[in-house]
Amino acid sequence: MMNQNGRPTRPEAANAAETVGTFTGNAALDIEEPLIFEVGTNEATGVDLPDPAPVTSRLGGHARKTAVNLPGLTEPETMRHYVRLSRQNYAIDLGLYPLGSCTMKHNPRLNEKMARVPGFADIHPLQPLATVPGAIELMAELSHWLMEMTGMAAVALSPKAGAHGELCGMMAIKAALKARGETRSKVLVPESAHGTNPATAALLGYSVVSIPARADGTVDVEAVRERLDEDVAAIMLTNPNTCGLFERDIVEMAEAVHAVGAYFYGDGANFNAIMGKVRPGDLGIDAMHINLHKTFSTPHGGGGPGAGPVVLSDKLAAYAPLPYLRMEAGGAVLVEHPSDTEAEAHPFGRMTAFHGQMGMYVRALSYMMSHGEDGLRQAAEDAVLSANYVKARLADVMTVAYPERPSMHEVLFKDDFLDGTGVSTLDFAKAMIDEGFHPMTMYFPLVVHGAMLVEPTESESRASLDLFIATLRDLAMAASNGQVERFKQAPQHAPRRRLDETRAARSPSLRWTPPEPRSIEPAEAAE
Ligand SMILES: *Cc1c(COP(=O)(O)O)cnc(C)c1O
Repeated sequence: MMNQNGRPTRPEAANAAETVGTFTGNAALDIEEPLIFEVGTNEATGVDLPDPAPVTSRLGGHARKTAVNLPGLTEPETMRHYVRLSRQNYAIDLGLYPLGSCTMKHNPRLNEKMARVPGFADIHPLQPLATVPGAIELMAELSHWLMEMTGMAAVALSPKAGAHGELCGMMAIKAALKARGETRSKVLVPESAHGTNPATAALLGYSVVSIPARADGTVDVEAVRERLDEDVAAIMLTNPNTCGLFERDIVEMAEAVHAVGAYFYGDGANFNAIMGKVRPGDLGIDAMHINLHKTFSTPHGGGGPGAGPVVLSDKLAAYAPLPYLRMEAGGAVLVEHPSDTEAEAHPFGRMTAFHGQMGMYVRALSYMMSHGEDGLRQAAEDAVLSANYVKARLADVMTVAYPERPSMHEVLFKDDFLDGTGVSTLDFAKAMIDEGFHPMTMYFPLVVHGAMLVEPTESESRASLDLFIATLRDLAMAASNGQVERFKQAPQHAPRRRLDETRAARSPSLRWTPPEPRSIEPAEAAE
């Protein structure tokens, strides 16, 4: 089925007689939406502007001669275009979003309300500091909560995502080594690590030494020891790790790392599982980013910005980038320039032009303060409970990757239960779309075959978890009962079916070309 612009739209049933095509390409009230360039005309506009006053061109004959071909839409057309697109977007506000490692939790509207308070929303980073004491105080309060929760000495607020935070923390480590007159060349990264860990190390010129996973999914302290020497700058480790397991030997690992003069970088993206329960500083971690957009809510993914503040131990605090906050008797002072730093501070530079994501600071602090100490701890406990509930209820029909250990906030399955069914992890995920669920994280971490990583978070009700579980049970049983077509054809009910994702990534089509006009009048040749 093609739409009026000649692009494929609705799925076609395998049997042509059952084809559910419609004239418009719409199905019931689910409306097919073309690209904005394909609707409207060049003449239409949503605004009335007075004709420009005559100008003398100073472009020396380089003025554009042809129309720019911007899409021309009336105001209602514009409104409909974006509202229709927004209805095609899956969101945490629509349903359960079990993407493991991403912590897709409910974003309380209170946070949004706070972020829109004009004193926070309408300020400019170049405004004199004397006019924004409230914003500085908020940043100081957020820093206080982050340091308190992690047991660390300092925080660099400005990094704009987890990966950016990793870069910041590793740059602080590099600066600390340089101050000791050392250049080390290696960084240890477990096999199960998020791809950003080795990427960060490589970007800073380190060679990445991989640590194999133990059969139980955790990192073996002996394997770490074997790879440690005076040329290792740091280890980068996630705890709980990306298999959803708590690394019990982390203290021993930290001691071994410190014994050769290296630093311990903790990837804090999974902090949701342990906030209020464990302080990373007590485990021996020297630097750790916190994904405010994961642990402390805030829409992310397609829907919003990130913020990845980095907490630093006292060994690294002096190397925190500018700008940073200095606590003085009269309150916090924002140190922005190298000339304003105290004698013992050696900032390695700066990560961002300004101060970071102010709107996210407000949301995160609003989340923290509304939960309070006990509420944050309960959020972590409930997140772990939800994951273990999902695991317990699915263990007989899906293959739990590491059944011998309790899960933390996410549960990892592998594809053994699909062996011999002809259904792959990808097919299984696509069938979840037909059932109205966003798939879980697939094929990550790489340490198990056909990985499916489910993170339900604390914000799902029991009823919501039960429906999710029942759906996965139904799918697992359908696969083992030989209903292969249900999976191979999936998604059958989505606006688009299987896309060639590899081709889309490898050779993206970035330039729009006008489609051939398609006539709805009887073709002349037919007469
Ligand atoms: C999400 C995540 C990151 C990267 O964070 P971004 O904010 O997406 O850059 C790093 N490590 C782990 C384990 C993650 O889950």
